[in-house]
Amino acid sequence: MAQRLRVHIEGIVQGVGFRPFIYQLAHRHRLHGYVANTPKGVEVEVEGSRQDLCQFLEELPEFAPPLANITRLETEVLPAAAYRIFEIKSSAEGEERSALISPDTETCADCLGELFDPKNRRYLYPFINCTNCGPRYTIIKDIPYDRRKTTMATFTMCGDCSREYHDPLNRRFHAQPNGCWVCGPRVWLAGAGGQDLGVADPISAAALYLSEGAVVAVKGLGGFHLAVDATRNEAVKRLRWRKRREEKPLAVMSASLAQIERYALVGEEERFEFAPSEYGIGFGLHL
Ligand SMILES: [Zn+2]
Ligand SMILES: [Zn+2]
Repeated sequence: MAQRLRVHIEGIVQGVGFRPFIYQLAHRHRLHGYVANTPKGVEVEVEGSRQDLCQFLEELPEFAPPLANITRLETEVLPAAAYRIFEIKSSAEGEERSALISPDTETCADCLGELFDPKNRRYLYPFINCTNCGPRYTIIKDIPYDRRKTTMATFTMCGDCSREYHDPLNRRFHAQPNGCWVCGPRVWLAGAGGQDLGVADPISAAALYLSEGAVVAVKGLGGFHLAVDATRNEAVKRLRWRKRREEKPLAVMSASLAQIERYALVGEEERFEFAPSEYGIGFGLHL
């Protein structure tokens, strides 16, 4: 006989691919019902045989997506409601907002693979991301975490992106910052006066300026990032002078932990805090 379970899950469960994960898990165990984001986290109802429900509950924390962090999981047994399918419902809204939001995360290995694949439609697209990586906290204006409540709301997805976004089996299913060369944000290089310099490859041009000792202001998700080549003394001095920051340490960015270790000692605790990854982008280190 079919039984129904309602599961309330709290923690970092929004914007990390949690709903598609639940969708796939429910399908694997022949369960019907729904999953939805709520202002507190995620709510799931599943209906099926007792054995399938037990398996589902057992595997839920075990196979949760890499960026998820479950802090609380409560279940309620209810009379069967005769669901016919399993669906991902749009988010329920409410007064109380306590869902935890994932921090912005470094580009994942899958996205890096696509980024440097000349055959991929996102080849060298600087804002590449997916459900397992990319911006979160800095783009969110309100929860539940949905695209229309992020700074991405103004970018309408193209057909290709929209297909990925709506396909539960795609790595970009409900990836809120999803975008590409056709529909997403773009990058350009502006001169000191703010005028668009109209260069074809702004990132390579900015890198060239940096290598020549220029100060480049990178407009990022959370504001401006003033950058210089840390190995050029006169460039660092110029930045310090302009910032009127004579002695306070500046953050140094490295592409990986291995690179940091070439010029600094990394303790065990620091290593853990950096969540080391071979592909880490944007590790910060104060020198
Ligand atoms: Zn990714
Ligand atoms: Zn697109």
